[in-house]
Amino acid sequence: MMKKLFKCSVCRFVYEGEEAPDFCPKCGAPKNKFEELTEEQANKIYTSDRTNDIHMELVNLSMRIIELCEEGIEIDLDPPCVALFKDAIKEAWVIKQRSKAELEGHMSRGKF
Ligand SMILES: [Zn+2]
Repeated sequence: MMKKLFKCSVCRFVYEGEEAPDFCPKCGAPKNKFEELTEEQANKIYTSDRTNDIHMELVNLSMRIIELCEEGIEIDLDPPCVALFKDAIKEAWVIKQRSKAELEGHMSRGKF
C-alpha cells in the first residue's frame, strides 16, 4: 500500500505521508502550497527513486573496483596483472562517471 505524495509548489520538495505537512521541510512554505500527486505521478517518483538508487550503487561498486585495483597494483605480482588492474580502473571510472552524469541530469530535470 502506497502512501500519498505531496509536492511543494515553491521548491518541488516531495513529501510522503497521510496529508501535506504544516510547513515544507525544505523551504518552509505553508501547507496550502502543497499539491497531492496523482497515482501516476507518484509511481513515476518511486520508479525514479529506484533507478537513482541503482545508479548510486553502480557508483559505489565502481569506486570499490578502483580501490581493489589500486591494491592489486600496489602488490605488483606481475606485469599482466598490473596492466589488467590499470585497464579495470579506467573502465570502472567510465561506469562511475556515466552514472554520476545521469544522476546529475535527473536532479537538474527535477526527476528525483
Ligand atoms: Zn518547499
